Amino acid sequence: MSFYISELTAFAAFFVYGSFFEWTLHKYLMHQPRWKYPFRAHALVHHGLFRTGTDYFLSDKKYMRKVRFAWWNAPLIIALHVPAILLIQHLVGAPILAGACAAMAVYYALYEYLHYCMHIPMGRRLEQTRWFRWLDAHHHMHHKRHLNNLNVVLPLADAVFGSLISAKKRIPAPDRQQGAYRMEALLG
Ligand SMILES: [Zn+2]
Ligand SMILES: [Zn+2]
Repeated sequence: MSFYISELTAFAAFFVYGSFFEWTLHKYLMHQPRWKYPFRAHALVHHGLFRTGTDYFLSDKKYMRKVRFAWWNAPLIIALHVPAILLIQHLVGAPILAGACAAMAVYYALYEYLHYCMHIPMGRRLEQTRWFRWLDAHHHMHHKRHLNNLNVVLPLADAVFGSLISAKKRIPAPDRQQGAYRMEALLG
């Protein structure tokens, strides 16, 4: 297999894997008190500050830091995967390390950016797209039912594991334009 094909295949495979990793991490570490840090930061703090309806949006400037993860989370998650990726690379006999790490970095960056935009509406072009609106309503429903709609980026694992709440059964997401006016007043 040529270098590019194996790396590109690894990128696609690890992006899909990202959905299952996100789902598992979110369900078992962020919503169950197995390890205090992620449970506190997410289930108690994030879900405590961001709820549904207009409470889905940032309510105070001082909570800005409660939307995103701490900076060291991404390098730690990727680093923990490296030994397994190296093992797979050895077994398949083709280079995949760069593609696999890039997929995880892109998935993680998308998670952080999309999730940030979801809770802090600014009238961005992205927020007008049907794709974003669908994902946003999906995540808004997660803030109502914490063990459903666990994916933020790619709700594939939600569909596979039966935790997806269909669009018809969601509660309506709050008006993002109204939210953007509020953010403007809040953030200046
Ligand atoms: Zn959220
Ligand atoms: Zn959650």
